[in-house]
Amino acid sequence: MPKGEKDARRLLGRLRDVMAGGGGAQDRLNRVVTLIAQGLGTDVCSCYVMRAGEVLELFATEGLSQDAVHQTRMRVGEGLIGEIAAKAQPLMAADAWSHPSFSYRPETGEDVYRSLAGVPLIRGGKVIGVLAVQNKDNRDYQDFEQEVLETVAMVLSELLAGAKLVHEHELGTVAGNAVLPLRLEGATLNPGIGVGIAVYHQPEVHVTRLLADDTDSELARLRDALREMRRSIDSMLAEQRHLAGEYTDVLETFRMFAEDKGWVGRITEHIKTGLSAEAAVRKVDDDMRARMAQVSDPYLRERLHDLEDLANRLLRHLTGDGSTAAMSDLPDHVILICRSLGPAELLDYDPSRLRGVIMEEGSPGMHAVIVAKALDIPVIGQVPSIFQRVAPLDPVVVDGEHGQVFARPGEDVRGAFLDGVKARQQRRAFYHALKDKPPITRDGKRIKLMINAGLMMDMGNLAETGADGVGLYRTEIPFMARSSLPSVDSQTQLYGKVLEMAGDKPVTFRTLDVGGDKLLPYWQRASEDNPALGWRSIRITLDRPAILRAQIRALIRASGGRELRVMFPMVANVAEYRAARALVDLELVREAARGTRPPERVRVGTMLEVPSLVWHLPALLKDGVDFVSIGSNDLMQFTFASDRGNPRIAGRYDPLSPPALSLLKRILDLCNVAAVPVSLCGEMASRPLEALALAALGFRFLSLAAPGMGPVKQMLLSTDLSEVKPYVMSLLDQPDVSVRSKLRTFAKDHGIELA
Ligand code: PEP
Ligand code: MG
Repeated sequence: MPKGEKDARRLLGRLRDVMAGGGGAQDRLNRVVTLIAQGLGTDVCSCYVMRAGEVLELFATEGLSQDAVHQTRMRVGEGLIGEIAAKAQPLMAADAWSHPSFSYRPETGEDVYRSLAGVPLIRGGKVIGVLAVQNKDNRDYQDFEQEVLETVAMVLSELLAGAKLVHEHELGTVAGNAVLPLRLEGATLNPGIGVGIAVYHQPEVHVTRLLADDTDSELARLRDALREMRRSIDSMLAEQRHLAGEYTDVLETFRMFAEDKGWVGRITEHIKTGLSAEAAVRKVDDDMRARMAQVSDPYLRERLHDLEDLANRLLRHLTGDGSTAAMSDLPDHVILICRSLGPAELLDYDPSRLRGVIMEEGSPGMHAVIVAKALDIPVIGQVPSIFQRVAPLDPVVVDGEHGQVFARPGEDVRGAFLDGVKARQQRRAFYHALKDKPPITRDGKRIKLMINAGLMMDMGNLAETGADGVGLYRTEIPFMARSSLPSVDSQTQLYGKVLEMAGDKPVTFRTLDVGGDKLLPYWQRASEDNPALGWRSIRITLDRPAILRAQIRALIRASGGRELRVMFPMVANVAEYRAARALVDLELVREAARGTRPPERVRVGTMLEVPSLVWHLPALLKDGVDFVSIGSNDLMQFTFASDRGNPRIAGRYDPLSPPALSLLKRILDLCNVAAVPVSLCGEMASRPLEALALAALGFRFLSLAAPGMGPVKQMLLSTDLSEVKPYVMSLLDQPDVSVRSKLRTFAKDHGIELA
């Protein structure tokens, strides 16, 4: 193996000559493996290429039997080579034979080789092959050697891609005939319906110059490109200033990534090994994409998309070409097709032309989705092989209501969706017209309807829907949109802005509810077998009271002269509530001593999400709790022992069932007797039929997702609760798994409008 940078550079230089030289692709590949074996001082160097059906085929070798070339094949996951491809990670084994994944291939003549080092060949985030070296001795390959192999692998990947050794169609399975209509399923990341023409996002910049002799000038090019890129992001940010709060926070976070020392440092390191600036950016990006495939933490994956967006931007500045579709002439109605998307990439497009976005990857919390929500653009994610199934200029319908995509739909389907778009607009206008009408039932019961919020842009929904206030402000969401724990000052500013935007309407802040599926990138945690039942929420903040105290301090400072309403998540017993409340009292005293303007009034409540608290509720109500808010999402998951995020069991229980409704009734009755206000802020309040049952049980405060406001208000305006109440009560002791259809029939028969 080479001992230093010089040897590595020499090898890369030779590879460049082979690649630039003549000869057929197979010929050049044969010469490349020989060169690598010589350059690295190994007995064997082999190149395996991915073929259709996830099969790795030996394409060229120096050291193994030539008879095995194009004969030896293994599946992804099979043997050491298959494992490297499956995990998209390097593997070094001094004693390959004793490795648990080793699979012996006699036809290769590998009996005499003991050690093996291999790295994946990656292009465009996909593993396209494996490069492996072997030695007769039990060689302990060093980190430096792995680095060299990876750099060589990157150069080789480009050669393979350019040489088209494998027919393009083998790299992905083509589903369906490209001219027939096709229905594809995915996950709704932002609801809505869009009808338009497919446009490929094409962020990839083709890197042709891989190696460079003059490291200093490459480093200077990188510096210039970084400066230009940051300048262009700044001007984009300046254009978006009119959009308040969290939305711009997302972009600020994105801007921060551009300064990320680790990212720039890694690019610099690769330039120093002899790569051109653009090849170094691509190498870091490819490494990151490969790692992304292994990362299960959704938050981290989402942040990695931001880095990818930056890499593409930087490449465009370096190469001066490769503009995305955003810069070309666009059709009037664009459905954007992409693998994934960064927030800034989305903003490159003229929003008045964007009708929808379809991603091969994507997840609900990614920054591009947050931006799409602000712009009201429907997004469907996790649509496999979208590029193989939808061609540019294909007519496409994005149905964000049902998580589906129609490619090349017939006229009737297209027409039906266009009608749907129109109906949605009309319905929205209808709900909008209801916004100043108080939600009073036909028999005169006033139900307070509040919204759930977590991003600053959600606050605009208060005026938009005419809600009575914010019943649940999820404070962890701003924590999740940042790259480090926010300071007391920045929290004070944030909560102050929230209160300011709420005007004279009340806001109930929930303290930090992290853990479970809500992870903070800057918070290292050990993995747990049952995270939903693990160290999360109030359990974390009581164990780390400094975090909770800082948050409460910020809330007190932000609500000077106003009412402060704060509640704690996941409280399981009175002791936890007392401990958390004691911190509020402590901070109130501390802030008073500092001369902070105190809140006009302080209301401290608890969420009720853990069934044990129902049985401790009488004691809690005596303890002076100011209000109770039922988090039905968690309460139902724990009551039915049914993971709320697992679609496989989603239909197994129904909150519209006798056990669930009886439980809610019990909580309501206990609170009413103690004259403690109780609300419900889980998803069930956002659905008209569930909200009907809740109002009939006696709930007078509901907090819901803003899109549910119109439909729930319309339902209430058309309901006579005195008719519904006895019927719902009669259902409580029925043996049904669900009373959904019975209640729906009842509503229909009684003229209750359910959207
Ligand atoms: C709930 O559990 O119902 C709730 C409102 O909290 P979250 O959905 O944020 O866990
Ligand atoms: Mg909850």
